[in-house]
Amino acid sequence: MSDITVIGLGAMGTALTEAFLDKGHVVTVWNRSPAKAQALAAKGAIVAASVEDAVRASPVIVVCLLVYDTVHEALAPVWEALSGRTLVNLTNGTPEQARAMSQWAVTHGANYVDGGIMAVPPMIGGQHALILYSGSRQGFDMHSEQLGALGTSKYLGEDAGMAPLHDIALLAGMYGLFGGVMQALALTGSAGIPAGEFVPLLMSWLQAMQGGLPKWAEQIDAGDHTSDVASNLGMQAEAYVNLIDASKAAGISTELMLPMQGLMKRGVAAGKANADLTSLVELLRSQNRSI
Ligand code: NDP
Repeated sequence: MSDITVIGLGAMGTALTEAFLDKGHVVTVWNRSPAKAQALAAKGAIVAASVEDAVRASPVIVVCLLVYDTVHEALAPVWEALSGRTLVNLTNGTPEQARAMSQWAVTHGANYVDGGIMAVPPMIGGQHALILYSGSRQGFDMHSEQLGALGTSKYLGEDAGMAPLHDIALLAGMYGLFGGVMQALALTGSAGIPAGEFVPLLMSWLQAMQGGLPKWAEQIDAGDHTSDVASNLGMQAEAYVNLIDASKAAGISTELMLPMQGLMKRGVAAGKANADLTSLVELLRSQNRSI
């Protein structure tokens, strides 16, 4: 019997296994392509011959595959083996997928904990690797010490969908930031400014802007976007036109910038010109334009 089983030995599953081994845990592993298990076997991992053997080897099963469908594919045939065990699914997915997987696992007698990994593989095992968890409190509490080997754990409640919800919201913030950074570097690069020269300026600007987020939170929670407005939406929508025009003039694609302009225009058309930019969050919520 081992302490933990890891199913999925891609870049992330390998890093998870190494972190468990580093903390002295006995780890059983399984991967669809067996070759990926060899290096871990040399470090002390036990390689299971089948998914079923891997599940039966430990009280807690950590799964880290590419997408949820592959988790179903791998585990559905061995559902009987899950009974009485804790399934910790660290595969990236949506809240709905997590809730459905939780229901499936609970029906088969397992504790289900969903997780969101807010780190890249080299960070795993360090304190800056944040792992979000939600789902069975009992399952999380029973195995929180082993899971602590992966980084800093944050438990977000019994609703299995909460970890992926937070994960995806954090990724939305990250990709929004990355999109803006790409545009900035394409624009400055087109003028021959090396990225290495511009990035320090960009970093301090973004840090200064981040300082305003607590006020954003206050306004959004209060539903009041009109008091103490120093940079109203109307002004920002006009200035944003320059961002589009300057990009076009420099031969830079505007594909990342246009959706934000569309939202700003909708805000102005909805009478929010004198409100703060935070009023656009309500517009996103109340007028769903998903495609
Ligand atoms: P990889 O592409 O490196 O590995 C994918 C894993 O999924 C492999 O073990 C692969 O097996 C397995 N797999 C894919 N399809 C199937 C299938 N049909 N049946 C069985 N196994 C299958 O991805 P990562 O390890 O990087 O990512 C794993 C999860 O972690 C993803 O959900 C990802 O979003 C999440 N994540 C990754 C981060 C990263 O920076 N890498 C950061 C945060 C989260 P095989 O080796 O046989 O192909």
